[in-house]
Amino acid sequence: MGYNVAIDGPAGAGKSTIAKLVAKEKGYIYVDTGAMYRGLAIHFLKKGVRAEDKDAVTAACKDAEVTIAYENGVQQVYLNGENVTSMLRTEEVGNMASRTSAIPAVREKLLELQRSLARTQDVIMDGRDIGTNILPNADVKIYLTASVETRAKRRYDELREKGEMCDLESIAHDIRERDARDMTREIAPLKQAEDAVLLDSSDMTVQEVVDTICSYCK
Ligand code: C5P
Repeated sequence: MGYNVAIDGPAGAGKSTIAKLVAKEKGYIYVDTGAMYRGLAIHFLKKGVRAEDKDAVTAACKDAEVTIAYENGVQQVYLNGENVTSMLRTEEVGNMASRTSAIPAVREKLLELQRSLARTQDVIMDGRDIGTNILPNADVKIYLTASVETRAKRRYDELREKGEMCDLESIAHDIRERDARDMTREIAPLKQAEDAVLLDSSDMTVQEVVDTICSYCK
């Protein structure tokens, strides 16, 4: 078994930024599980499947193969052999991933892939149910959160930096909706594991969060 660090928390809490830096400092492999849900979401979008149509999503899972590879330490997501990494981070794909991740067949599809990555190597894995469901025996569990206002402002700044038009209020609205979906779904809802350390990054710098997490890790 590898050394396993689990980071869960709501959208926009900074999990991936933080996990990448911790991985670099400690020499772990960073596993972004949200990217896997996004990879499957691309499959559903390509097939024109609607997220509300559970049966169609379940059927579409059968001809999707999501695999992961690492190029220069950076995770690449392959969907049926095609590298879809550059297509993962759009709002459309994120929304599709958020809606379809509540469907059991989607979660089952990715469960073994996630567990197998953690079995043989030292990983820091981020997601929503890593500490509660995927890696219940993880060596370190972190629940990373921040206020809706902070998360919306971070996302707003990120989009503005890319030159994209956006509206702070609609980003906050989207975050609230995604939180509600992730936290209230029946299967593997987002919640803090009993043995997870709670970190609220609203008033912390990135380096402070990284240092705090590193202090818990070997
Ligand atoms: O973290 P990210 O925004 O990339 O994840 C996209 C969506 O995938 C989330 O909104 C969430 O619904 C889902 N997800 C999940 N379980 C995970 C990781 C992501 O349900 N472990």
